[in-house]
Amino acid sequence: MNIKEIHIYAHDLPVRNGPYVMASGTVHELDTTLVKLVADDGTVGWGETCPVGPTYAEAHADGARAALKVMAKGLIGAELWPLALQRKMNNLLNGHNYSKAAIDIAAHDLVGKCLGINVADLLGGAMTDLLPSYYATNVGAPDDIARLAGEKLAEGYPRLQVKIGGRPVEIDIETIRKVWEVIGGSGMRLAVDGNRSLTTRDALRVSRECPDIPFIMEQPCNTYQDLEKIRPQIVHGIYMDENSIDLNTVVSAAGTGLVDGFGMKVTRIGGLQNMRAFRDICEARSLPHTCDDSWGGDIIAAACTQIGSTVRPDLCEGVWLAAPYIEGNYDPEHGIRIEGGHIRRPTGPGLGVVPDESAFGAPVASF
Ligand SMILES: [Mg+2]
Repeated sequence: MNIKEIHIYAHDLPVRNGPYVMASGTVHELDTTLVKLVADDGTVGWGETCPVGPTYAEAHADGARAALKVMAKGLIGAELWPLALQRKMNNLLNGHNYSKAAIDIAAHDLVGKCLGINVADLLGGAMTDLLPSYYATNVGAPDDIARLAGEKLAEGYPRLQVKIGGRPVEIDIETIRKVWEVIGGSGMRLAVDGNRSLTTRDALRVSRECPDIPFIMEQPCNTYQDLEKIRPQIVHGIYMDENSIDLNTVVSAAGTGLVDGFGMKVTRIGGLQNMRAFRDICEARSLPHTCDDSWGGDIIAAACTQIGSTVRPDLCEGVWLAAPYIEGNYDPEHGIRIEGGHIRRPTGPGLGVVPDESAFGAPVASF
């Protein structure tokens, strides 16, 4: 099974009820990149990567497509087996994991279809067909976020992530307290995500002034070194998100006990092949983690759902999808939806979703 054709598409995803506000940026619409691989037997596989604007991570939409173009010629004729393909991509381009992820996801979809099995089975086997999701709020006024927390609790979400940062820390602390007044005792778990924005001083204040509230702090500060600094002084669990840029960093953070878990993005780590290694490292150290992507439509959502279903259930912190912020689905029938705070895994061959490619227009590049 070898790659015969590669087609790259650009597609706009307007933010429903937007904009979406994080400490690291505000987004009104997202520019997603889709990849269609065609194998020598004619089988097709789809991949996707969608940075959430240019300031969330060291990634941007045009960068994804530029990196794909750098690799594409060299990938024609390459074997589709995901490990071999990952090594081939690494020989063609250093870094740019988020771009390689689109090829990797498409290869998993294609190989699954060829073998007549689902991607979760290709990744080791699904533990469940109904996955927990979680809701991530905006950075917003304390009363508004508390009201939203109540709505998401009522909808059935098992976990809430409250975004903080980019404003006086007193407002963040008030927000956390008001949210806990609503969800405390309900069983809904709470994460507080600073998206790299807090000084170590303010991260320590958030923890010290809320010792009675059992949240985890996700990526409160900007750097790995900031996390090392606050780690011995903080009473809450720390999860690493944006700093976990590759498997090497994950091994260091997990191996040194720097973190209690991860918020992980399938595209940041380089796709499903690397995500499966990440999953196994976390299981070896009993570290909970999410299986998210920063943004994107049905293809990336299906990839997150398939790998999420293979995570040991007590370590699965949930699958975050942009679905609540996007109108419609690429696949009207099997597209990924969140209902009652949970996601039903598509069980068809490959990713289990088949996009209506007419929505993407003509490819921006073909090889
Ligand atoms: Mg995060």
